[in-house]
Amino acid sequence: MPNERHELREEGLHIGRHWRSGRGLYRSEFGAHAITQSVDHQSSTGELAPARAVSLGIGALDLAYVQSWRFSSLDRAITLGVDSARRGLGLAANLPQRVMPVLMYHSLSADEEPVGGYYKVCTPPALFRSQMEWMRTNGFHGVDLSTGIRWLRNGAGSIPGLPEGAKPVAITFDDGFHDFYLHGLPALADHGFQATMYVPTSFIGDVRRTFLNRDCMTWAELRECLLGHIELGSHTVSHPVLYSLPWPEIKSQLHHSKQELEQQLQRTVDAFAYPFALPSFDQSYLHRLEGLLQESGYETCVTTLVGRATEKENLLRIKRLPANSADDQPLFLAKLRGAYDWMGRFQTLVKLKGKLRKPEIRRTEESL
Ligand SMILES: [Zn+2]
Repeated sequence: MPNERHELREEGLHIGRHWRSGRGLYRSEFGAHAITQSVDHQSSTGELAPARAVSLGIGALDLAYVQSWRFSSLDRAITLGVDSARRGLGLAANLPQRVMPVLMYHSLSADEEPVGGYYKVCTPPALFRSQMEWMRTNGFHGVDLSTGIRWLRNGAGSIPGLPEGAKPVAITFDDGFHDFYLHGLPALADHGFQATMYVPTSFIGDVRRTFLNRDCMTWAELRECLLGHIELGSHTVSHPVLYSLPWPEIKSQLHHSKQELEQQLQRTVDAFAYPFALPSFDQSYLHRLEGLLQESGYETCVTTLVGRATEKENLLRIKRLPANSADDQPLFLAKLRGAYDWMGRFQTLVKLKGKLRKPEIRRTEESL
């Protein structure tokens, strides 16, 4: 029996529930999202009204399929096809503006995950080390998020020590797992790379605590990360679905996680990672959240929106590229070259579908 549930929401849709089993494996269960089409929606001429046709077309993006290995194969085939076409046309090299991939990792472990590549959160340590090597041998250089943003804004010369001609890639980790300390720190150090780690502070202690049955780092280990030039950021206090909380609790999650990190680490913390998917279907919520992030002293916020960050990136909604066990060399490099950015547009369609179906989570409207 699963002993803990971890509900995920991806881009406004209830895409399933993940939990850790007692054997330490991530398992998943996805609800059926049958899409029914009715003649009621046809116009008097028997043709679908354009808006409804769009709606039904989007409805065809069945989420159970999106999460399946078949979609994972399709996702991979599209990405490699796009990469090949872009390279053939010379598009990967000649960009009108600076762009930077921001990789999103979670756990460095070899746990089996019976979900499509987009949803995996584990990367085997040996594969992670290979991915760092592929970056280095292909002219990419791993940096922490703040350094990468400085390069996006100011260009060449803004990163001391950046090898001549190297393209920066921000490496980020969510959740504060101990396997980063065991496997990530040494692999990054061996390649001269940096990274940013986002931690939910209630799972960090002087004595080891766990999150989703997985060991987290201790405060002493996080201080060692700082010595290894790892940037540390907040991932809230308790990793809640922020969208389901009243505003005073959201404010508390932003404020108290930052306060605790700064007290424990004795340095300013201005980086934040949004837990779960950003509810992009609710722009008024997002604008208010951005105001609260700024008020709390955060300067950057990374999300699960897919794509590479550009020099015009909204720093409170930074896009990332999921990286995990599905990323062998061709797929990993294709993502870094921009061939996975199409997934961001796909997400937009899914978000539109979410808007049409109405979100299941209701927030309590309370004033601050
Ligand atoms: Zn998280």
